[in-house]
This record gives sequence, structure tokens and C-alpha cells, in this order.
Amino acid sequence: MNLRSRFVLIFIAAIVVSSPLVAQAPQPGAPPAAAAPAQQGGTPADRAAAAAAAMKAPFVPFHIIGNIYYVGSTGIACYVITTPAGDVLLDTGYADMAPQIEQNIKTLGFKLSDIKILINSHAHTDHGGGLAELKSATGAQLIAMAQDVPYLESGGHNDVLFHDQNLFPPVKVDRVIHDGDTVTLGGVTLKAYLTAGHTPGTTTWTTTTEEKGKSYNVVFLGSVVAVPTNKLFDKPDSPATYPGIKSDFDHAFAVVKALPCDVFLASNGAFFDMQKKHDALINGADPNPFIDPAGYQAYVARSEANYQKIVQSQQGTDAPTSHTP
Ligand code: ZN
Repeated sequence: MNLRSRFVLIFIAAIVVSSPLVAQAPQPGAPPAAAAPAQQGGTPADRAAAAAAAMKAPFVPFHIIGNIYYVGSTGIACYVITTPAGDVLLDTGYADMAPQIEQNIKTLGFKLSDIKILINSHAHTDHGGGLAELKSATGAQLIAMAQDVPYLESGGHNDVLFHDQNLFPPVKVDRVIHDGDTVTLGGVTLKAYLTAGHTPGTTTWTTTTEEKGKSYNVVFLGSVVAVPTNKLFDKPDSPATYPGIKSDFDHAFAVVKALPCDVFLASNGAFFDMQKKHDALINGADPNPFIDPAGYQAYVARSEANYQKIVQSQQGTDAPTSHTP
């Protein structure tokens, strides 16, 4: 399997572990073309391009809950978290999505210059590709998990899954953080949990927000999607995708299962049924449909089941017979 095919596989894997409700008809927030499925025919490059185009399709930005706003595309989630001292932007999409994200921020009535901090779910082109442009446009400080810093600063070189296939504009990290570190601006605190495996520094961010007098625990889930091309075991003829990947995934699932979550958000819209919840929200659903603790636990359980299937499939003839602690 070549690298472009792997990239297609990531998209497919993301959809598989997402709710079956997601990949359906066009939704009010998205233009009709947005929900067009990736072409099944053509070369792997054609399919990768079609999958990326569907993910990038514009989506009307909207207020999610409390001080949290959606400024991403149909498939790729990006968030503005507002504070009295300026705003935080979590993820940017692909590099060529930067104008779209910037316009979404402005459409909501925010100024690019109000963005003071940039944070990232993980150092892949579809989530951090626009960081260099957004950093330039906002003048914000970029804060990132130590293990993903080399990939951000090199523009995706030596990626554990994609190698040099999915490069993006490199960006300087201003503050390097570690598991459990916090980012505070204007009295709003975001906590960073290392939930690695998808990349060595994949980060799940949490915060609290208030609406109608109630406080809610918010989880911005990084990606916990494992794919068959993740080599979880280090075999003589087939090295692990990166050293420690299996223990990283195991740790990530232990962490995300234990996080208190009222408001379920994530790096891809499909992970948390973004379109369906958006439509319910704009139609006046009460309580806010993004308050979905059961949906969070169900998504994590589906993702872990998918991961365990891959573990089992790789524990074949020449794999270790015992589980890694
Ligand atoms: Zn990724």
C-alpha cells in the first residue's frame, strides 16, 4: 500500500468509527457538494484528493456553547475559545483552508488580532497545515505538545505514518508543553493531555464552559483512530510505526475513558456528529445537543474496539503472544 492510499485509509477509518448517521445527505450548514462521498474510482491520488476536498468543504461557522465557537470546515474541526483577554484557536485545517478559517473567524464577529494563542490536536497537514499562515495573520503564540514539535517545525517531515508524503508549511513553536500542562488566558484554562498513538504528540484538550448558569466539562478529543497500517508491534522484519506506539495507544484510551466529559468535541466533525448536532442546535434543540456524555463514551468505545481489532490482527504468527503492559 502506498502512502497516498494510507491517507485515504485514514479518512475511511475515521468514518468507520464515526456514527453511521454522519456520512449521509447534505446538511443545512454545508453546501450540497460538501457531503459528496469520495470517488471510488480513479488512482489513489485521485481518491485522496476527492476525500480531502470533501473534508475541506466550507461550513457555516457557529456558536457551539458558552465561549466556544466552530470555525472549521465540513469535515475538519477548528475552534475559537473566547476569553476577556483575547481568544484561543484550536487547529487550522490544511494550509489551503487558512483563508476559509480566517473568514469564519471574521464572520462570527471576531478579529484575527484577537487570537492570542494557537493550539493543535496533532501535527498532521489536515489539522496543523494552516498554523504558519494563521500565526502570521494573528501574531499569536503557538503552544504545542513536545512530542509533536519536531513535526510542526519541520512541516511534517518524517511523519510516523506518512513519512514525507503530507508536508505542510513549517511553523515555529513558541511554548513547548508536556502531558498535564495548562494554557491559561483571560481566566480560561485549557488542559493538555498527551493521548498519543495517531502521532507521538496527539493532544486531547479539556476546559470548562458555562451556559445558562451551568458549568460543563468540555473535551476536545485528539485523534484516537488506529489504522491497519499502524504497526503496533516491533517485529524483526516489520518495525513498529514508532517505538512505544502500542503503549501510547493503550495509555491514550485509558486517559480518554477517564476524562469527565459533558460537551463532546473533537478534531474531526464526524467523530462527534457535528453536522447532526449543528442542525439540531439551529432548530432550537434544548438541551444543547453538543452536551453528549453518552455520545463521547460511545465514540471512545467504538474507537477502542477498532484499535483492539487491529491489535488482535497483528498478534498473528510472528507477533508477541502476550500483551504489552
Ligand atoms: Zn491525523
